[in-house]
Parts: sequence; C-alpha cells; structure tokens
Amino acid sequence: MLEVQEARLRILGGFSPLPPEELRVAEALGFVVAEDLAAPHPLPRFDNSAMDGYAVRAADAAGATEADPARLRLVGEVAAGSAMEGELAPGTAVRIMTGAPVPPGADAVVPVEVTREIDDQVEILQAPSPRAHIRDAGSDIGAGDMVVEAGTELGPGELALLASLGLSPLRVHPRPKVAVIVTGAELVTPEAEPGPGQIRDSNSLALRSLVLEAGGEPLTFDAVADDLASTEETLKRAAQDADLIVSSGGVSVGRYDFVKEAVERLGSIDFWRVAMQPGKPVVSGEVAGTPFLGLPGNPVSIHVGFEQFVRPAIRRMRGCRDLVRPVIDATLSETITKRAGRLHFVRVRLTREGDGFRATPTGAQGSHVQSSLVGCDGVARFPKDLEQMEAGT
Ligand code: AMP
Ligand code: MG
Repeated sequence: MLEVQEARLRILGGFSPLPPEELRVAEALGFVVAEDLAAPHPLPRFDNSAMDGYAVRAADAAGATEADPARLRLVGEVAAGSAMEGELAPGTAVRIMTGAPVPPGADAVVPVEVTREIDDQVEILQAPSPRAHIRDAGSDIGAGDMVVEAGTELGPGELALLASLGLSPLRVHPRPKVAVIVTGAELVTPEAEPGPGQIRDSNSLALRSLVLEAGGEPLTFDAVADDLASTEETLKRAAQDADLIVSSGGVSVGRYDFVKEAVERLGSIDFWRVAMQPGKPVVSGEVAGTPFLGLPGNPVSIHVGFEQFVRPAIRRMRGCRDLVRPVIDATLSETITKRAGRLHFVRVRLTREGDGFRATPTGAQGSHVQSSLVGCDGVARFPKDLEQMEAGT
C-alpha cells in the first residue's frame, strides 16, 4: 500500500498544465497565466495630479504663507480626461483636478484647501515643495517591468493591473473539465424522498463544489447503478469530454463494487489503495487515455481524498505553482487516539492562540460522519505509527 505522499507524487506525475488559450482580461478571474507579463508602458502613463487644486511652478510660490500669499494669474483648467496644450508660463497657474495631466512647465500642485481664488487670480497660502502632489509617470511601474509571472493565479488586483496596462487578451491555462461520477444503487437526488434503504446523493454536490473551488469545471452525470455495463458506459462517455474523471463509491471489495473492473476493461489501474484514513481505497488509473481517480463513497472520504489527490491534480492542470494547501503548526486541544498503521486525517477547527493556532477536532471522526466537515478549517495529520496524541501536542 502506498503512503499518501508517494501516492500524490505518482498521481501528479501524470499531469501537466493544459495547453494555454487566449482569453480577454475581463474573463480571466481565477485563471492562471501561462506567460511572464511585462508592462508595455509606464504606469501612471503621464505625470498627474494627486489632488484637486492648482498646478504651479513651485519657484513662483516659494516662501508663500497665509499672511503673505503668492498671487498667480489663472490661465485655465484641466480636468481628468483632458490635457492642456503648451507650457505653463512663469507667474501663472491652472486649476487642476485629481488624475488630470500636470501641464508641462508646472512642477507642483497646491491643494485647493490652501488657496483662495479671486477673479482671475489664485492666492497660494502655503509654499509647495517641488513635485508636491504630483504622481510621477512610471512611479508605479516602469515600461518593461515584469508585472505578473507565469503561474500566477489572477485575482481582482492582478486583473485590474493587467487591464490598466492593456494586457488583453492573455494566454492562460484553461480550466480542466472534471467529470464527476457517483455510483450506488441506493442513491436518489437531494430533492427526492428516499425509499427503503435509499439515501440522498450528497457526493455529487460535494464533488462538483470541490471541483469548482479548485478551479475546475465540473461535468455532471446521472448516478450510476451498481452494475458493470452502466459503469463502463458512463466512464466511456466521461472520457470523451473530460480532462480528468473523478468517481465516488464502488472501489472497495464488495460484491457490487464495479468501478475497478470497469476501469481495467477500458483502460488501466496504477494503484488502488493508499495508507490513510479515511479514504483508503483510492484508485488511480486511466480510462481510454483520460486520467481517472476513484474515491470511496463515504462522504468524508471523498473530501479527504479530493484534498490529497484531486485538488493538486486540478491545480497542476491549471498551471498553478502551489499545488497543496498551506501547512501550519497548531496545538492540539484534546487527546486523540487511533490504531497504529495508517496516517489519519483528523478534521479540525482552528482558533488563534497567542502567536499560533489551536486545533480542535470536529467531533466523531468516522468516514460516514458528515457533521465532522461542518465548520472544518483543515485536517490534522495523526502520524501512521502513533496511537495517541496528547492534548497540548
Ligand atoms: P461504497 O464506497 O460504494 O461502498 O460506499 C460507501 C458508503 O458511502 C456507503 O454507505 C454508501 O451508501 C455511501 N455513499 C456512496 N455514494 C454516496 C453518495 N453519492 N452520496 C452519499 N453517500 C454515498
Ligand atoms: Mg457503493
């Protein structure tokens, strides 16, 4: 049986970033850029005013005070979206608004609050220092500066910067299409009233949500009954459209577990067990050339298996640099026990404690205990060979 880390590396070895496509910047939220992006021009593009006020030559108002203001002749106005032609002559000023280009010749902006306008003159009540309240061209980004490196996930901040620089369209890795297949003759939809022995299918929704959160595009299929023919039929269809197939259930050793057999008939299996709990029966393989990851049906197992194997695979296809979640140290708030032999993933809630975190298990940890996922902030690793971890560990 493979250890978790080994299994993940083996799975990830079969994935690479999907070939880049062009996308308009306005549609690129959450996508990962496939190229280093450099600024085609400086930002700001031109010297502009940081305040509403007056553009002046600083030397004309040197020594100005409230008691002894400098008087400058008002020769015009420049608002955002316009520009003044010609140079500001000595002894003159123009009214200027925030974001408007500073006219050639002017080298300071005096905020309106320290001025007084009288007819065609403006009185400057406080001497400006040179370049005061001017946002210099290139002070944010210089032409040719690298702004976003390949592998960066585009959030609102990155998108806004790329938009300012006119970097559209961009080359990004597409979102992987992930077929979500659940198996089980017992499953009915969440809206249905289950009959005897039936349960509502929660894994479809869980897996589709996990895929979306990981940045993939889920493809939906009807739940598959526990027979070989329907399992094969759905897998075949999924393999046509998907970049990855994820399934739930039917991978154990029960009489009605047909997933492994179906995968073997249509493709191949690399391994089918990982030394972890919950979620030991993880099948890694391919169906007609499309990567396949089969998780056991227990609702907690699919979450844990998804985090360990599926999410990193999706992130690799998206071109992300970081494939796994951040790992932090936390102090265990209560003593926990298990049998030695497998790594356990204990669902925990995290709270701040001093400079660090305190981890509190979310109650009973059985692989069917769905309530253990509510309010869960992470999983604690309970190492393979340990049988007990004391509160305070
Ligand atoms: P299996 O791995 O098929 O043996 O399923 C293990 C357990 O998970 C059984 O109790 C199933 O009823 C349950 N289960 C399987 N599929 C789902 C599903 N889609 N939604 C909720 N529970 C499921
Ligand atoms: Mg089943």
